[in-house]
Amino acid sequence: MTHATLTNNYRTLSCDDDIISGTLRRVFGFGGFRRDQERIVRAILEHRDVFAVMPTGGGKSLCYQLPAVLMPGTCLVISPLIALMKDQVDGARSNGIRAAFLNSSISPAEQDDVLGQLHSNALDLLYIAPERFALERFRNIAARSRIALAVVDEAHCISEWGHDFRPDYLSLSRLVEMFPDVPVAAFTATATHRVQDDIQMRLGLRDPLVVRASFDRPNLFYDIRFKENAAEQLVSILKANRDKAGIIYRTSRKSVSDTAAMLRSKGFRALPYHAGLGDEERIRNQEAFIRDEVDVIVATIAFGMGIDKSNIRFVVHADLPKSMENYYQETGRAGRDGEPARCILLFSHGDIPKVRFFIDSVADEAEHARALAAFSKVVSFASSSVCRRRSLLDYFGETYPEENCGNCDVCTGLHKTINCTREAQMLLSAIVRTDQQFGASHIIDIVTGSTNRKVLDFGHDRLKTYGAGKGKSKTFWKRLVDELIARKIVSRAEGLYPALYLLPEASRVLKNETEIEMAEVVETKRKKSALAAAAPQENEELFELLRSLRKQIADEQGVPPYVVFSDRSLRDMASLLPKDEESMLAVTGVGEVKLRRYGRQFISCIIRWCDAGHNGKTP
Ligand code: ADP
Ligand code: ZN
Repeated sequence: MTHATLTNNYRTLSCDDDIISGTLRRVFGFGGFRRDQERIVRAILEHRDVFAVMPTGGGKSLCYQLPAVLMPGTCLVISPLIALMKDQVDGARSNGIRAAFLNSSISPAEQDDVLGQLHSNALDLLYIAPERFALERFRNIAARSRIALAVVDEAHCISEWGHDFRPDYLSLSRLVEMFPDVPVAAFTATATHRVQDDIQMRLGLRDPLVVRASFDRPNLFYDIRFKENAAEQLVSILKANRDKAGIIYRTSRKSVSDTAAMLRSKGFRALPYHAGLGDEERIRNQEAFIRDEVDVIVATIAFGMGIDKSNIRFVVHADLPKSMENYYQETGRAGRDGEPARCILLFSHGDIPKVRFFIDSVADEAEHARALAAFSKVVSFASSSVCRRRSLLDYFGETYPEENCGNCDVCTGLHKTINCTREAQMLLSAIVRTDQQFGASHIIDIVTGSTNRKVLDFGHDRLKTYGAGKGKSKTFWKRLVDELIARKIVSRAEGLYPALYLLPEASRVLKNETEIEMAEVVETKRKKSALAAAAPQENEELFELLRSLRKQIADEQGVPPYVVFSDRSLRDMASLLPKDEESMLAVTGVGEVKLRRYGRQFISCIIRWCDAGHNGKTP
């Protein structure tokens, strides 16, 4: 490359720099790019194809919406998630982007109207479902319109190797042929290398920029807790997260309904969601959640696919997820706005047989083996005491560079290890002395000296270990049993009577040849840190006022609250206290259009609050 072209390139680039960052600020209200966004935006603006794997919440839409604003013509976004299109369009419009969607949910007259806008180049963005692409009429109009960019969202749907193959997607192979001069950008949140190759091949991408973004979600706090009494634990989690949006995942429809009813009876705003509810009720409950009318959705994994809500502050797995992919995807619904969010998994080995039961009902042999392997990864993930973030990323083939992530239960020292060798010996001895014929609760009754009928009937109150462990709580003993199972020191018989029996390693424990250490939750620290995550430092009261203003505006306009402003924007307002338009523009997520539309109302709310005697200083 000659010196002249170098400087030339530099010049065009540096000029682009201003335009790009100016648009980022002016239209989207963002002060900077997130990881990988800039590379993708630049590639598209240079007319290069893109293939990008980005985690949920990574900020994918900006990668094509920004070019869509800058490029002359319409950006076509092909997405299978029809339920999301309206919200996505509302979101783009709220930033002043000319956006529309075409799918079966709108009337023929409305469809004609949108096609007219496409043809007269009046759209920056057009979302369509894949089957639309197969329609001759659409293709004819598109061919005669000015298409600037084609985006294939959820691109893994084109691959039969992916987990979500959709035959409709195959018609997208014709994109490149139909629009030879238009860059194609394919996005997905999950793609192995094999799926990636398949996508590139089928779409016919031409030397694309390939981006595999990190799967790390730095704002998510991963927390695994011993499951003792799910109901009580859920209540205390909800108390610590009052008025915040959250999802509680449960396995069965019945446990979903029961949990939702239990939480409602305790005064929480919670609704159920599972495939057994009627369509109408399901949609109603989902809408209520999206529109911040209830705080909590209790759901089976059927919930979440069509959810774009960015302000979900916590996700609880009250039962074990079936695979690490599920865990990642479900926890990934928290904190899409980049604000801190908590992912709590309640885990005990006692839950394993339940899931095993489901898996064992799978008839297909290969399918059964796959399900079992996937589930065993979840069990070892939950049983380990390695940094959660590290193990999660490790599972997806990524090496986490830090020693301590600072944002999981392990790394923040919520656990301390205590030596329980003596207590373990008590348990083992009680198991041996009762001929390995009894389940965990009976063994625990023995060591804690219970006067339970069954203990007395069997004469187990005369055993040497009877009452030897009186000083410790039942919970302690349950956890210790779990620990011994996890370490393959004891095992639980399968079937109707899950008696505990010793494995060979147990003899080393009994002979004092090895020590047993167990992680114990440090309650005081947990409280402090849970509080830190739950109660941010900004002016909380003002934040609530801004939140209700947002809700009111959203209702008037018939859009979800997060389309008006993200939680992040409201937090910024509550701490920066902008009192004029200029300072309001410095708030994340406030671009020119939102400033014009909502600025005045939010500024007056802030001024009123400050005038009412609040000094506006962060307490
Ligand atoms: P994805 O589609 O990848 O799941 P989104 O495009 O919905 O993610 O973006 C997730 C959230 O991140 C949205 O609330 C969006 O406004 C926000 N966001 C995206 N890019 C930026 C940025 N550069 N700075 C601040 N917030 C951003
Ligand atoms: Zn960690």
